[in-house]
Amino acid sequence: MVVGNRSAPLRIRMHEHDNVAIVANDGGLPAGTVFPDGLALVDTVPQGHKVALVDLPASAPVRRYNVVIGRTTRNLPAGSWVHERVLEMPEARSLDGLPVCTVAAPVMAPLPGYTFEGYRNADGSVGTRNILAITQTVQCVAGVVEFAVRRIKADLLPRYPNVDDVVALEHGYGCGVAIDAPDAVVPIRTLRNITLNPNFGNEVMVVSLGCEKLQPERLLPPGSLAVVDARRTIAADSRVAEAGNAGDRAGLDVVCLQDAGHVGFMSMIDTIVERARSHLERLDARRRETVPASALVVGVQCGGSDTFSGVTANPAVGFCADLLVRAGATVMFSEVTEVRDGIDQLTARAASPEIAEAMIREMAWYDTYLDRGRVDRSANTTPGNKQGGLSNIVEKAMGSIVKSGSAPIGGVLSPGERLRDRGIERGLVYAATPASDFICGTLQLAAGMNLHVFTTGRGTPYGLAEVPVIKVATRTELARRWHDLMDVNAGRIADGEATVEEVGWEMFRLMLEVASGRRKTWAEHWKLHNALVLFNPAPVT
Ligand code: CA
Repeated sequence: MVVGNRSAPLRIRMHEHDNVAIVANDGGLPAGTVFPDGLALVDTVPQGHKVALVDLPASAPVRRYNVVIGRTTRNLPAGSWVHERVLEMPEARSLDGLPVCTVAAPVMAPLPGYTFEGYRNADGSVGTRNILAITQTVQCVAGVVEFAVRRIKADLLPRYPNVDDVVALEHGYGCGVAIDAPDAVVPIRTLRNITLNPNFGNEVMVVSLGCEKLQPERLLPPGSLAVVDARRTIAADSRVAEAGNAGDRAGLDVVCLQDAGHVGFMSMIDTIVERARSHLERLDARRRETVPASALVVGVQCGGSDTFSGVTANPAVGFCADLLVRAGATVMFSEVTEVRDGIDQLTARAASPEIAEAMIREMAWYDTYLDRGRVDRSANTTPGNKQGGLSNIVEKAMGSIVKSGSAPIGGVLSPGERLRDRGIERGLVYAATPASDFICGTLQLAAGMNLHVFTTGRGTPYGLAEVPVIKVATRTELARRWHDLMDVNAGRIADGEATVEEVGWEMFRLMLEVASGRRKTWAEHWKLHNALVLFNPAPVT
């Protein structure tokens, strides 16, 4: 990698076999610029865009990350701007004959002694925040719950200083959907598993309309969580003494808006506020305890990517992912369309043939899903990605996949599945999700994420109400302009002011501070919260 003085012309090559490099200078470089080694720019090349390092005849393979990201559509002399319009994208790698477990697991020394202050839950998980979440079975109740949450925050929350927040788990599902379609399992288990996220302290409170397809017992059936079941048993016993308790649905705490007992809007609000009280009391009695860093469950993803994502922020996240794995924590990476073109790298890194097979199964499922909509993985890239220098999804995927670091892939989750249900308690995991920022974040929440890392090059103010989101800028220029939105500036790597390793360690330490509640992320500071978006591959009615 070439780095150095910011005023000199700078280019960054990712691999010695690459025949293109990207221009690193803010504002790009004009035609005629001569690099120290004598390469002269034929065209003006914007920042982050590719320059041909050698003469590329028509149909020549263009290599970046030592991977063919496309073939030239015409003759391009050395020094030319290599952009999307002169590149033909290769076909997606076949899912047959992939290398399986061919990469020897790297030696990764354990990293003991790192801790944070977290909330231990009865089910063994650990929260980084102490939040009352109110689950909704259906979108119909969203306005009422929002009204009630405003009331709870104003009237009750100040009396429970150890509770961080009250969050309505609003979503668009629950009715008007083909709920018995095979793929309906995805949104339903996603919503169930989000309810059980470690940051909600195993408190489960549900608001239902009454007539919806997704009935509370279907969302949270007996057996869905031991702690909830224990409360069900207690409630079932007390039901004998307290017959007629409207909220007692086999021990699940449900407020049903259509219950005959509700006369007028305010009676619904009063019931929800009143029912929140006992949950808040239990949450408020909890205290942070010192727990090992292995209790972290970190979800990583990127959004609004540019060419620097795969040069600065994502490699630093990958280095940090290795640190987390060495500390015994769990790290999830996701975004099917952004790893599809690197599937051979991932199956090669699988810890077992079964894991490689599971990964191939997820890719094949998604290929079919996209095919049904008559598109392929190339539908992923945005105008901003291309403006930022990413010519196509192959190039974007190579930059995205480095977030996974170098550890063996020790587990695979289907969309909406929970790590604990699959017996996964540590290591690097591939959680299959769409790359859509909101859907990926929602599915990682369902998996059990208690900390989120999000890298961005173009810039997005992304945040979630449910977990802290640490945002990493890929370029110094973005980090400067969005100084009160970006938590880490990985652009210093391209500036030659920090190494990938240094930024990776900075992230690791910041994660422990944020997880402990000692530091707030900018998204938390400003309360920037994106909506939960359930992935529903099944039909609506
Ligand atoms: Ca994303």
